[in-house]
Amino acid sequence: MKAGLYFHIPFCVRKCAYCDFYSVSDTTSQKAYFEAMHREMEAYRGKQIPVDSVFIGGGTPSVADETEIAKLLKKARDIFDFASDTEITIELNPKTFDEKKLLVYRDAGVNRVSMGLQSANNDELKKLGRIHTAAEFLASYQLLRKMGFTNINADMMYGLPDSSIETLEKTLTFLKQLDCEHISAYALTLDENSPLYQQGYIFPDDDGVYEQYQLVCEMLSQYRHYEISNFTKDGKEPCRHNFKYWTRAPYIGFGAAAHSFFEEQRFFNPASITEYVGGAYARTPQIISGQDALFEEIMLSLRTDLGIKIEKLPDSFWTKNQKMIESYRQNGLLMIDKESIRLTEQGFFVSNAIISSFQTEID
Ligand code: SF4
Repeated sequence: MKAGLYFHIPFCVRKCAYCDFYSVSDTTSQKAYFEAMHREMEAYRGKQIPVDSVFIGGGTPSVADETEIAKLLKKARDIFDFASDTEITIELNPKTFDEKKLLVYRDAGVNRVSMGLQSANNDELKKLGRIHTAAEFLASYQLLRKMGFTNINADMMYGLPDSSIETLEKTLTFLKQLDCEHISAYALTLDENSPLYQQGYIFPDDDGVYEQYQLVCEMLSQYRHYEISNFTKDGKEPCRHNFKYWTRAPYIGFGAAAHSFFEEQRFFNPASITEYVGGAYARTPQIISGQDALFEEIMLSLRTDLGIKIEKLPDSFWTKNQKMIESYRQNGLLMIDKESIRLTEQGFFVSNAIISSFQTEID
Protein backbone atom coordinates (compact mmCIF):
# COMPACT_ATOMS: atom_id res chain seq x y z
CA MET A 1 0.00 0.00 0.00
CA LYS A 2 1.40 3.41 -0.94
CA ALA A 3 1.94 5.91 1.87
CA GLY A 4 0.64 9.45 2.34
CA LEU A 5 2.74 12.35 3.60
CA TYR A 6 1.32 15.04 5.88
CA PHE A 7 3.06 18.37 6.54
CA HIS A 8 1.73 20.49 9.39
CA ILE A 9 2.19 24.24 8.84
CA PRO A 10 1.19 25.73 12.19
CA PHE A 11 0.78 29.40 11.24
CA CYS A 12 -2.51 31.34 11.02
CA VAL A 13 -3.38 35.02 10.62
CA ARG A 14 -5.13 34.79 13.99
CA LYS A 15 -6.79 32.10 16.06
CA CYS A 16 -10.43 31.27 15.25
CA ALA A 17 -12.71 31.12 18.30
CA TYR A 18 -13.51 27.40 17.95
CA CYS A 19 -10.14 26.01 16.85
CA ASP A 20 -8.23 23.29 18.67
CA PHE A 21 -5.62 22.60 15.99
CA TYR A 22 -2.08 23.48 16.89
CA SER A 23 -1.35 26.89 15.34
CA VAL A 24 0.17 30.27 16.23
CA SER A 25 0.03 33.70 14.61
CA ASP A 26 3.71 34.54 15.13
CA THR A 27 5.60 33.48 11.99
CA THR A 28 9.09 34.59 13.03
CA SER A 29 10.22 30.97 13.45
CA GLN A 30 9.04 30.07 9.94
CA LYS A 31 12.46 29.57 8.35
CA ALA A 32 13.78 27.44 11.21
CA TYR A 33 10.54 25.47 11.21
CA PHE A 34 10.79 24.52 7.53
CA GLU A 35 14.45 23.61 7.97
CA ALA A 36 13.43 21.25 10.79
CA MET A 37 10.91 19.57 8.48
CA HIS A 38 13.65 19.06 5.90
CA ARG A 39 15.80 17.43 8.60
CA GLU A 40 12.94 15.24 9.73
CA MET A 41 12.40 13.96 6.20
CA GLU A 42 16.06 12.95 5.93
CA ALA A 43 15.42 10.02 8.30
CA TYR A 44 13.53 8.33 5.45
CA ARG A 45 16.18 8.77 2.75
CA GLY A 46 17.20 5.57 1.01
CA LYS A 47 14.08 3.64 2.09
CA GLN A 48 12.33 4.12 -1.25
CA ILE A 49 8.91 4.47 0.31
CA PRO A 50 6.21 4.69 -2.37
CA VAL A 51 3.90 7.67 -1.94
CA ASP A 52 0.70 8.63 -3.75
CA SER A 53 -0.73 11.43 -1.60
CA VAL A 54 0.55 14.54 0.13
CA PHE A 55 -1.47 16.83 2.38
CA ILE A 56 -0.09 20.21 3.39
CA GLY A 57 -2.35 21.23 6.25
CA GLY A 58 -2.38 23.37 9.34
CA GLY A 59 -2.82 25.96 10.48
CA THR A 60 -2.99 27.92 7.27
CA PRO A 61 -0.21 26.86 4.90
CA SER A 62 -0.92 29.86 2.66
CA VAL A 63 0.29 32.14 5.47
CA ALA A 64 3.78 30.68 5.01
CA ASP A 65 6.19 31.80 2.32
CA GLU A 66 5.18 29.97 -0.88
CA THR A 67 8.80 29.24 -1.83
CA GLU A 68 9.14 27.23 1.41
CA ILE A 69 6.18 25.09 0.33
CA ALA A 70 7.78 24.53 -3.08
CA LYS A 71 11.12 23.58 -1.48
CA LEU A 72 9.35 21.17 0.87
CA LEU A 73 7.69 19.36 -2.02
CA LYS A 74 10.94 19.25 -3.98
CA LYS A 75 12.69 17.65 -1.02
CA ALA A 76 9.84 15.17 -0.52
CA ARG A 77 10.11 14.08 -4.17
CA ASP A 78 13.83 13.65 -3.71
CA ILE A 79 13.43 11.38 -0.68
CA PHE A 80 10.23 9.46 -1.37
CA ASP A 81 9.13 7.53 -4.42
CA PHE A 82 6.22 9.61 -5.79
CA ALA A 83 3.61 7.99 -8.06
CA SER A 84 3.05 9.96 -11.26
CA ASP A 85 -0.55 10.75 -10.24
CA THR A 86 0.19 11.70 -6.64
CA GLU A 87 -2.63 13.76 -5.10
CA ILE A 88 -1.08 16.89 -3.57
CA THR A 89 -3.48 18.95 -1.45
CA ILE A 90 -2.86 22.29 0.20
CA GLU A 91 -5.15 23.95 2.74
CA LEU A 92 -5.76 27.63 2.06
CA ASN A 93 -7.81 30.31 3.69
CA PRO A 94 -9.53 33.10 1.79
CA LYS A 95 -7.56 36.36 1.69
CA THR A 96 -4.23 34.65 2.35
CA PHE A 97 -3.11 34.02 -1.22
CA ASP A 98 -2.81 35.72 -4.59
CA GLU A 99 -2.02 34.72 -8.18
CA LYS A 100 1.70 34.65 -7.51
CA LYS A 101 1.33 32.17 -4.64
CA LEU A 102 -1.00 29.96 -6.64
CA LEU A 103 1.44 29.86 -9.55
CA VAL A 104 4.20 28.66 -7.23
CA TYR A 105 1.93 25.97 -5.74
CA ARG A 106 0.82 24.83 -9.17
CA ASP A 107 4.37 24.64 -10.48
CA ALA A 108 5.34 22.64 -7.41
CA GLY A 109 2.70 20.04 -8.31
CA VAL A 110 -0.22 20.99 -6.04
CA ASN A 111 -3.34 19.60 -7.74
CA ARG A 112 -5.96 19.82 -5.01
CA VAL A 113 -6.99 22.70 -2.77
CA SER A 114 -9.00 22.69 0.44
CA MET A 115 -10.43 26.03 1.57
CA GLY A 116 -12.52 26.91 4.62
CA LEU A 117 -15.86 28.63 4.10
CA GLN A 118 -17.55 27.39 7.30
CA SER A 119 -20.63 29.56 6.72
CA ALA A 120 -22.08 31.84 4.06
CA ASN A 121 -23.56 34.08 6.81
CA ASN A 122 -21.25 36.94 7.73
CA ASP A 123 -22.53 37.26 11.29
CA GLU A 124 -21.76 33.55 11.88
CA LEU A 125 -18.29 34.01 10.38
CA LYS A 126 -17.71 36.91 12.73
CA LYS A 127 -18.75 34.91 15.79
CA LEU A 128 -16.40 32.12 14.73
CA GLY A 129 -13.54 34.62 14.45
CA ARG A 130 -12.95 33.87 10.78
CA ILE A 131 -10.88 36.43 8.89
CA HIS A 132 -13.12 36.59 5.80
CA THR A 133 -16.66 37.27 4.62
CA ALA A 134 -18.66 35.04 2.28
CA ALA A 135 -17.94 37.45 -0.61
CA GLU A 136 -14.21 37.24 0.10
CA PHE A 137 -14.39 33.45 0.08
CA LEU A 138 -16.11 33.66 -3.30
CA ALA A 139 -13.43 35.95 -4.73
CA SER A 140 -10.70 33.56 -3.54
CA TYR A 141 -12.60 30.59 -4.97
CA GLN A 142 -12.94 32.30 -8.35
CA LEU A 143 -9.23 33.03 -8.36
CA LEU A 144 -8.50 29.34 -7.77
CA ARG A 145 -10.68 28.41 -10.74
CA LYS A 146 -9.06 31.11 -12.89
CA MET A 147 -5.65 29.68 -12.05
CA GLY A 148 -6.76 26.26 -13.25
CA PHE A 149 -7.45 24.33 -10.03
CA THR A 150 -10.01 21.67 -10.91
CA ASN A 151 -10.17 19.76 -7.64
CA ILE A 152 -11.39 21.97 -4.79
CA ASN A 153 -12.78 21.10 -1.38
CA ALA A 154 -14.73 23.58 0.72
CA ASP A 155 -15.11 23.09 4.48
CA MET A 156 -18.35 24.09 6.17
CA MET A 157 -19.82 23.65 9.63
CA TYR A 158 -23.26 23.16 11.13
CA GLY A 159 -24.47 23.52 14.72
CA LEU A 160 -23.09 27.07 14.76
CA PRO A 161 -23.87 29.73 17.40
CA ASP A 162 -27.32 31.30 16.89
CA SER A 163 -27.73 29.23 13.73
CA SER A 164 -31.03 28.01 12.30
CA ILE A 165 -32.23 25.78 9.49
CA GLU A 166 -32.53 28.95 7.36
CA THR A 167 -28.93 30.10 7.93
CA LEU A 168 -27.66 26.59 7.17
CA GLU A 169 -29.78 26.42 4.02
CA LYS A 170 -28.16 29.65 2.85
CA THR A 171 -24.67 28.17 3.34
CA LEU A 172 -25.56 24.95 1.51
CA THR A 173 -27.19 26.83 -1.37
CA PHE A 174 -24.11 29.03 -1.66
CA LEU A 175 -21.85 25.96 -1.76
CA LYS A 176 -23.98 24.09 -4.26
CA GLN A 177 -23.81 27.04 -6.65
CA LEU A 178 -20.01 26.86 -6.55
CA ASP A 179 -20.15 23.27 -7.73
CA CYS A 180 -16.95 22.31 -5.92
CA GLU A 181 -15.67 18.78 -6.31
CA HIS A 182 -15.70 17.99 -2.60
CA ILE A 183 -17.38 19.31 0.54
CA SER A 184 -16.45 18.60 4.15
CA ALA A 185 -19.31 19.34 6.55
CA TYR A 186 -18.40 19.21 10.23
CA ALA A 187 -20.60 19.49 13.30
CA LEU A 188 -19.19 22.18 15.56
CA THR A 189 -18.22 20.48 18.78
CA LEU A 190 -17.16 22.67 21.66
CA ASP A 191 -15.94 22.13 25.13
CA GLU A 192 -18.19 23.90 27.65
CA ASN A 193 -15.14 25.83 28.85
CA SER A 194 -14.21 27.10 25.39
CA PRO A 195 -14.37 30.90 24.94
CA LEU A 196 -16.92 30.65 22.13
CA TYR A 197 -19.27 28.57 24.29
CA GLN A 198 -19.04 31.05 27.13
CA GLN A 199 -20.06 34.07 25.10
CA GLY A 200 -23.76 33.54 25.65
CA TYR A 201 -24.74 32.50 22.13
CA ILE A 202 -27.54 30.01 21.66
CA PHE A 203 -26.39 26.70 20.29
CA PRO A 204 -28.80 24.16 18.81
CA ASP A 205 -29.51 21.23 21.15
CA ASP A 206 -28.90 17.60 20.07
CA ASP A 207 -32.19 17.39 18.17
CA GLY A 208 -31.47 20.73 16.49
CA VAL A 209 -28.02 19.57 15.40
CA TYR A 210 -29.53 16.35 14.06
CA GLU A 211 -32.09 18.36 12.10
CA GLN A 212 -29.23 20.42 10.63
CA TYR A 213 -27.28 17.24 9.78
CA GLN A 214 -30.34 15.89 7.97
CA LEU A 215 -30.54 19.08 5.92
CA VAL A 216 -26.85 18.74 4.99
CA CYS A 217 -27.44 15.14 3.80
CA GLU A 218 -30.60 16.12 1.92
CA MET A 219 -29.14 19.15 0.15
CA LEU A 220 -25.92 17.31 -0.77
CA SER A 221 -27.75 14.17 -1.89
CA GLN A 222 -26.23 14.37 -5.36
CA TYR A 223 -22.81 14.04 -3.74
CA ARG A 224 -21.45 10.70 -2.52
CA HIS A 225 -21.53 10.81 1.29
CA TYR A 226 -18.44 8.63 1.65
CA GLU A 227 -17.44 9.45 5.21
CA ILE A 228 -19.24 10.91 8.24
CA SER A 229 -18.22 14.48 7.33
CA ASN A 230 -17.16 14.15 3.71
CA PHE A 231 -18.98 14.39 0.40
CA THR A 232 -17.54 14.05 -3.08
CA LYS A 233 -19.16 15.04 -6.34
CA ASP A 234 -20.59 12.00 -8.03
CA GLY A 235 -17.89 10.27 -10.05
CA LYS A 236 -15.02 12.09 -8.30
CA GLU A 237 -12.53 10.22 -6.17
CA PRO A 238 -12.76 10.79 -2.39
CA CYS A 239 -9.82 12.66 -0.88
CA ARG A 240 -7.14 10.01 -1.42
CA HIS A 241 -5.03 11.26 1.46
CA ASN A 242 -7.76 11.38 4.10
CA PHE A 243 -9.06 8.01 2.96
CA LYS A 244 -5.76 6.54 4.15
CA TYR A 245 -6.62 7.54 7.73
CA TRP A 246 -9.82 5.52 7.64
CA THR A 247 -8.39 2.44 5.95
CA ARG A 248 -5.28 2.08 8.14
CA ALA A 249 -3.03 2.80 5.18
CA PRO A 250 0.41 4.15 6.10
CA TYR A 251 1.00 7.87 6.45
CA ILE A 252 3.94 9.86 7.76
CA GLY A 253 3.41 13.25 9.38
CA PHE A 254 6.05 15.98 9.56
CA GLY A 255 6.06 19.07 11.73
CA ALA A 256 4.80 20.02 15.18
CA ALA A 257 1.77 18.01 16.36
CA ALA A 258 1.90 15.77 13.29
CA HIS A 259 0.80 12.15 13.68
CA SER A 260 2.02 9.11 11.77
CA PHE A 261 0.97 5.51 11.21
CA PHE A 262 3.79 3.61 9.61
CA GLU A 263 4.80 -0.06 9.75
CA GLU A 264 1.87 -0.73 12.11
CA GLN A 265 3.14 1.82 14.62
CA ARG A 266 1.57 5.11 15.64
CA PHE A 267 3.77 8.02 16.69
CA PHE A 268 3.44 11.76 17.03
CA ASN A 269 5.49 14.92 17.32
CA PRO A 270 5.19 17.42 20.18
CA ALA A 271 2.69 20.26 19.69
CA SER A 272 5.36 22.91 20.12
CA ILE A 273 7.34 24.74 17.45
CA THR A 274 10.20 25.36 19.89
CA GLU A 275 10.51 21.69 20.84
CA TYR A 276 10.14 20.58 17.25
CA VAL A 277 12.75 22.98 15.91
CA GLY A 278 15.01 21.84 18.74
CA GLY A 279 14.88 18.33 17.29
CA ALA A 280 12.17 16.72 19.41
CA TYR A 281 10.88 14.46 16.69
CA ALA A 282 12.54 11.30 17.89
CA ARG A 283 9.30 9.61 18.62
CA THR A 284 8.19 6.83 20.92
CA PRO A 285 6.17 4.52 18.73
CA GLN A 286 3.11 2.73 19.94
CA ILE A 287 2.73 -0.68 18.32
CA ILE A 288 -0.86 -1.47 17.46
CA SER A 289 -1.66 -5.16 17.30
CA GLY A 290 -4.25 -7.81 18.17
CA GLN A 291 -7.34 -6.45 19.87
CA ASP A 292 -6.31 -2.80 19.49
CA ALA A 293 -5.78 -3.25 15.77
CA LEU A 294 -9.21 -4.88 15.42
CA PHE A 295 -10.90 -2.06 17.33
CA GLU A 296 -9.15 0.53 15.15
CA GLU A 297 -10.18 -1.33 12.01
CA ILE A 298 -13.84 -1.38 13.08
CA MET A 299 -13.84 2.21 14.34
CA LEU A 300 -12.18 3.64 11.24
CA SER A 301 -13.87 1.52 8.58
CA LEU A 302 -17.35 2.26 9.91
CA ARG A 303 -16.70 5.96 9.37
CA THR A 304 -16.83 5.32 5.62
CA ASP A 305 -19.58 4.21 3.25
CA LEU A 306 -17.56 1.06 2.47
CA GLY A 307 -17.95 -0.12 6.06
CA ILE A 308 -16.07 -3.06 7.53
CA LYS A 309 -15.51 -6.24 5.53
CA ILE A 310 -17.15 -9.19 7.24
CA GLU A 311 -14.11 -11.40 6.53
CA LYS A 312 -12.07 -9.15 8.82
CA LEU A 313 -14.27 -9.82 11.84
CA PRO A 314 -13.40 -12.80 14.05
CA ASP A 315 -16.15 -15.27 15.08
CA SER A 316 -16.07 -13.98 18.65
CA PHE A 317 -17.10 -10.52 17.42
CA TRP A 318 -20.29 -12.02 15.99
CA THR A 319 -21.08 -14.04 19.06
CA LYS A 320 -20.77 -10.99 21.28
CA ASN A 321 -22.42 -8.38 19.09
CA GLN A 322 -25.01 -10.16 16.98
CA LYS A 323 -28.04 -8.98 18.98
CA MET A 324 -26.83 -5.39 18.99
CA ILE A 325 -26.08 -5.42 15.27
CA GLU A 326 -29.56 -6.74 14.56
CA SER A 327 -31.17 -4.05 16.70
CA TYR A 328 -29.16 -1.29 14.97
CA ARG A 329 -30.22 -2.75 11.64
CA GLN A 330 -33.88 -2.75 12.61
CA ASN A 331 -33.59 0.87 13.73
CA GLY A 332 -32.15 1.94 10.39
CA LEU A 333 -28.68 2.75 11.73
CA LEU A 334 -26.76 -0.01 10.02
CA MET A 335 -26.87 -2.15 6.88
CA ILE A 336 -25.49 -5.61 6.52
CA ASP A 337 -24.99 -7.81 3.46
CA LYS A 338 -22.83 -10.80 2.52
CA GLU A 339 -19.68 -8.72 2.32
CA SER A 340 -19.81 -5.87 4.78
CA ILE A 341 -21.42 -3.98 7.63
CA ARG A 342 -22.02 -0.28 6.89
CA LEU A 343 -23.61 2.57 8.78
CA THR A 344 -26.50 4.46 7.20
CA GLU A 345 -26.52 8.28 7.11
CA GLN A 346 -28.58 8.15 10.29
CA GLY A 347 -25.99 5.77 11.76
CA PHE A 348 -23.11 8.07 10.78
CA PHE A 349 -24.61 10.74 13.04
CA VAL A 350 -24.39 8.48 16.11
CA SER A 351 -21.33 6.53 14.99
CA ASN A 352 -19.36 7.16 18.18
CA ALA A 353 -22.09 5.62 20.32
CA ILE A 354 -22.51 2.65 17.96
CA ILE A 355 -18.81 1.92 17.67
CA SER A 356 -18.13 2.19 21.38
CA SER A 357 -21.03 -0.15 22.14
CA PHE A 358 -19.36 -3.04 20.30
CA GLN A 359 -17.42 -5.59 22.31
CA THR A 360 -14.15 -6.16 20.52
CA GLU A 361 -12.20 -8.33 22.99
CA ILE A 362 -10.65 -11.26 21.15
CA ASP A 363 -11.07 -14.57 22.97
S1 SF4 B 1 -7.71 29.08 10.18
FE1 SF4 B 1 -8.06 26.92 10.69
S2 SF4 B 1 -6.24 26.24 11.81
FE2 SF4 B 1 -6.21 28.51 11.76
S3 SF4 B 1 -7.16 29.11 13.69
FE3 SF4 B 1 -8.79 29.08 12.14
S4 SF4 B 1 -9.65 27.00 12.26
FE4 SF4 B 1 -7.69 26.98 13.35
